[in-house]
Amino acid sequence: MDVQCLQVGMIETNCYLLCDTETRKCAVIDPGDEAGRIAVAVRKSGCAPTAILLTHGHYDHTEGVAELRRAFPGLPVYLNREDTPAAGAPASLFPPVPDTVPYGEGDKVSVGNLTVSVIATPGHTKGSVSLICGDALFSGDTLFAGDCGRTDLWGGDMEQMLYSLGRLGSLGGNFKVYPGHMEASTLERERAWNPWVKQGMRMLQSAKEA
Ligand SMILES: [Zn+2]
Repeated sequence: MDVQCLQVGMIETNCYLLCDTETRKCAVIDPGDEAGRIAVAVRKSGCAPTAILLTHGHYDHTEGVAELRRAFPGLPVYLNREDTPAAGAPASLFPPVPDTVPYGEGDKVSVGNLTVSVIATPGHTKGSVSLICGDALFSGDTLFAGDCGRTDLWGGDMEQMLYSLGRLGSLGGNFKVYPGHMEASTLERERAWNPWVKQGMRMLQSAKEA
């Protein structure tokens, strides 16, 4: 397994190539812009893309989808239904992405021999998901290094955000954390230092004890 990060667009969204080095297949996570550059990176990787996986529906994570699909026709695009205009999300912030495959909590997507597991992590948006593959956790705009995503936009909810961060913090073991913006981290570091993760984990703990 190999993970490559490309920062794309004005808001420097992290687009990831998740490659299965055995079967030479890959998924593109959050092609937010600069589809041409992403397509070049995919070709350079020597891996055939099998899916586009979206952590949520904000434009800065989805703007490259249409062009990337023109470069790789037939590529399925996975997006949680809650983050689509059909579910009431405003198109200004959640521009429609045609022909998406809905996914969410508990779903699994194969990328070659790799399995990507989906966890629903609402809070930043209603349909935000985090993706786990091996020791990698792609956390979208839910969990950032030392911080969390904003909750003041449409569908945002701080209480859900804390719950989601508490769930991520409570995952067993360590993971490399690949967020939607800024630098990567590890789950161990976030459990120890991220005040929002700590608060979310305390919240889950006290809910369990109640
Ligand atoms: Zn976002």
